[in-house]
Amino acid sequence: MSSAKTLDGKGAGEAIRELLRPRIAAFRVASGRSPGLGILLAGNDGGSQIYVRNKVHACEELGIVVDLRRLSEDSTVEQVTSVVNSLNRDESIDAILVQSPLPAGMGAEAEKEVFNVIDPGKDVDGFCAVNVGRLAQNRSTLAPATPSGIIELLDRSKIQIQGAHAVIIGRSDIVGKPMAMLMLHRHATVTICHSRTQDLAMVTSRADILISAVGHPGLVIPKFVKPGSTVIDVGTTRVTDRRQVSAIFGEESPRLEVLDRRGAVVVGDVHPGVASVAGAVTPVPGGVGPLTIAMLLSNTVKAAETRLT
Ligand code: NAP
Repeated sequence: MSSAKTLDGKGAGEAIRELLRPRIAAFRVASGRSPGLGILLAGNDGGSQIYVRNKVHACEELGIVVDLRRLSEDSTVEQVTSVVNSLNRDESIDAILVQSPLPAGMGAEAEKEVFNVIDPGKDVDGFCAVNVGRLAQNRSTLAPATPSGIIELLDRSKIQIQGAHAVIIGRSDIVGKPMAMLMLHRHATVTICHSRTQDLAMVTSRADILISAVGHPGLVIPKFVKPGSTVIDVGTTRVTDRRQVSAIFGEESPRLEVLDRRGAVVVGDVHPGVASVAGAVTPVPGGVGPLTIAMLLSNTVKAAETRLT
């Protein structure tokens, strides 16, 4: 029943990393040290612990030095800001990442406040106001990792962006909005959808490239999709309910065996039935996730190289 090509995010992520190796070696020769990434992890969020562990591992594997600073769940915005400032001053640190989300107790505005303290030249996620502005003006050097990775995957898969109608579901600061900017700069015609969009299926079914960044398992069903189009699934939701997994993937799905073994499976926004309509789809896991990490590494190296010049 599946006819869509599967876009290999894992393979693309590995290819991006391999291209970084000689650049890191050249940086070491020129600077006498390895590129350095400072990571700040505040609180006990389970997902964040796993993401940070994966990021640290990926950096170490490439020879990027990580300075991981941990703060407790009850830490204050002032404490986080103070750590960011010390990383800003540290000459051996080229890039800084503050893991999102910050503890809820810090308040709704804490992330924006903290992101804006990061030196824009070291802002590896491109979340500070200066870098958001630079992205809007198409002068960006450090653009957010997930949307940058999606552009890389489309390019490597030879999917034409220029002139395509790109529809993005989700308008977050970390995925939806920067994705729209990057697609616009590549001359796509861009539509952004969100929770108040009327008749979502009607809007998305016009997309040549449909990107879903919602976090709602199985939201994108076949009627959302234009035949032959490209569908990029950013959603990653940890699902523990067997009935929900079997409703999406069917009673015979191997995912149920994984769920029984591990207690949870990661599910994307795109329903598996979409593969019978789309021309190309990204899997979850193994699609956008590995690209996000590869682009974090790439931005770290870019920040290090820029500081040398
Ligand atoms: P977010 O901040 O929670 O934003 C979700 C967006 O989806 C919001 O704009 C929301 O609209 C919209 N939305 C919610 N329900 C909707 C519906 N029924 N129809 C249409 N739009 C709807 O999410 P995020 O941080 O961008 O993350 C989105 C997903 O991507 C999550 O599953 C996250 O785990 C995943 N993610 C994956 C990676 C990766 O590397 N693979 C990286 C980042 C994020 P409103 O604005 O109107 O509320």
